[in-house]
Amino acid sequence: MIDTHAHLTEKVLYEDLDNIIKKAKEFGVNDIISVGMTNTHNIRAIKIAEKYENVYATVGIHPNEATREKLDLNLLREQANHKKVIAIGEIGIDLYRNKETLEIQKKYFIKQIKLAMELDLPIIVHSRNSAEVIYDILKDYKGVKGVMHCYSEHPELVSKFIDLGFYISVGGIVTFKSAEVVRDIAKMIPIDRLLIETDAPYLAPMPYRGKRNEPAYVKYTMLKLAEVKNINEKELVNIMRENTYRLFSKMKRKS
Ligand SMILES: [Zn+2]
Repeated sequence: MIDTHAHLTEKVLYEDLDNIIKKAKEFGVNDIISVGMTNTHNIRAIKIAEKYENVYATVGIHPNEATREKLDLNLLREQANHKKVIAIGEIGIDLYRNKETLEIQKKYFIKQIKLAMELDLPIIVHSRNSAEVIYDILKDYKGVKGVMHCYSEHPELVSKFIDLGFYISVGGIVTFKSAEVVRDIAKMIPIDRLLIETDAPYLAPMPYRGKRNEPAYVKYTMLKLAEVKNINEKELVNIMRENTYRLFSKMKRKS
């Protein structure tokens, strides 16, 4: 399995990395993508990727940081050229937490989309109460590739993001009893566009809901997904691995 979205740079994980990465391997998680979000976290993500062979990094400025963090495109470009930096992210729009900063969020998002296109890297998109706004932006940048991470908004937009060439990533919420919408979304995602993630340390799947999440637990999300998609677990793991390598083409294939 590959955890395509974890925040190993967050203190609760960062302080315990040796154990977390060992446990992930024991659970069958071979690769982890450590997603950046601020200038400090981006640097830290690269350091982690340099230290651990099976960890990759991404760099970008998260929409909720848009008013606090400087967007230095030259720095991001330089970091993105690192051999273990495989995507620009996470970037996007968040109208749940930061409605009043939409204009600056848009500016940051678009500049980072353009950078990703220039570097031919995929983007990792954060969307909260903002899927329509994001779709309207993305459709103007045909050719950019990427993933809608932990997608849990309008099911009717799923096919539109798919038509743009995007992948959709499912996280631990799919295991929650009340998350019928996310299971419906998971059913709608074509199997060759499906990715899986933890978003650790947040959103731990059942039976760890409410606890610290970590890459190992992507396994519980995978088991639930296999049930929802009515597909053999091994086959699902293989397909999602292929999907991950197809989208994040800078990753080194393990098998
Ligand atoms: Zn995230």
